[in-house]
Amino acid sequence: MKIFLNAVFILLSFFTYSQDKTSKSTPKSNIRKVVFILVDGISSDLFYKANTPFIDAMSKEGAFSEAYVGGEKGGYSESPTISAVGYNSLLTGTWANKHNVLGNEIVNPNYNYSTIFRLLKDSSPNKSIAIYSTWLENRTKLVGEGLEATGNIKMDFSFDGLELDEVKYPHDKLKKYLKRIDAEVARKAANHIYESGPDLSWVYLEHSDDMGHMYGESPAYFNAVSYEDSLIGLIWDAVKMREQETGEDWLIVVTTDHGRMPSDGKHHGQQSYRERSTWVALSKPVSNQYFKNNRVAIVDVFPTICDHMGITVPQKIAYELDGVSLIKKVDLFDLKGVCVNKKYISLRWLTEEKESEMANVYVSYTDKYKKGENDDFTFLGNVDVQKREFTTVISPPKGVEYIKIVMSTKNQTINTWVKITP
Ligand SMILES: [Zn+2]
Repeated sequence: MKIFLNAVFILLSFFTYSQDKTSKSTPKSNIRKVVFILVDGISSDLFYKANTPFIDAMSKEGAFSEAYVGGEKGGYSESPTISAVGYNSLLTGTWANKHNVLGNEIVNPNYNYSTIFRLLKDSSPNKSIAIYSTWLENRTKLVGEGLEATGNIKMDFSFDGLELDEVKYPHDKLKKYLKRIDAEVARKAANHIYESGPDLSWVYLEHSDDMGHMYGESPAYFNAVSYEDSLIGLIWDAVKMREQETGEDWLIVVTTDHGRMPSDGKHHGQQSYRERSTWVALSKPVSNQYFKNNRVAIVDVFPTICDHMGITVPQKIAYELDGVSLIKKVDLFDLKGVCVNKKYISLRWLTEEKESEMANVYVSYTDKYKKGENDDFTFLGNVDVQKREFTTVISPPKGVEYIKIVMSTKNQTINTWVKITP
């Protein structure tokens, strides 16, 4: 710990020095970058109980909301509250019924649901992407680096896999080696972001979850959360220094992949409120009423990154995204539908806006997207989002189990699946 703190001090001194050197900050440029940080396994109630001065300060300067993982509880998108499932919901902006990562084994991911890295590289090949991670599989399996199914995506910079080096990091039973690796990862992230400023990067820190599994809700766990918070502070400082010197406009998103069991805070994976309970901190203030007044979702991070960076999402990808933006105007959210007699559907949604805004409603009776093909969406009608409901006739072919509904306004799209019931 002492060695680590010394390193933090040296790095902070360096940034302070750099700050003094360039006290006249560079004019704002229109270069917009994002780093998202996933810190493992911290339910919102335990987050509030832990001492987290850096994330608190970031939230005060920016924004904070409680959030959830796990999709629609009891619904078609219900997703296990397991780490890799949560990471991939962030990376793809979809729940597990689409991305198909159902556990940490990552057996058969459906790469037809593009990660945010792939979307960026496909639209802007010259933009740079980076990962700093205490778990190698985030790059090799979830992002799917070098795989044909992901278009052979290549990270421009990666710092991960340290956990495989058992000489430098002997695997002790108390998992202290992973605590050390988190510090290495955060230090590298801070340095690399400060020096090279990748356009989009991902930091993954694990220690908090290890302490949760071992000790549950306990001083050891809260200390781990505080430790991760200090590492996040280091990255935040690096971003601030870089912003000051370059005029770049950075958004930091800090979130977690799942909560913890209600009984003792040890494990996770089921659908209890506490296991589904997470949070999101943003480094910039937002005016988005959805973010301010609702429990947001991990799948909202994908469209938020796109909005900050100005990434245009191709329509076919937008039609599959299960989240909405946390920073731009959201006309409607929480879209749900029911089918009656296989003939009618009734849609309902929520809105935080007061003005009229027309939405087009589309249906697809196929789900070819999951195989990498295109669905045919048919126009069903339009409706003012203020009405908060829409009922119409549908004509699903025989044997169809679910239909896909998309609503689209000038500001956003949103989708839901509706089960065809007799
Ligand atoms: Zn986890």
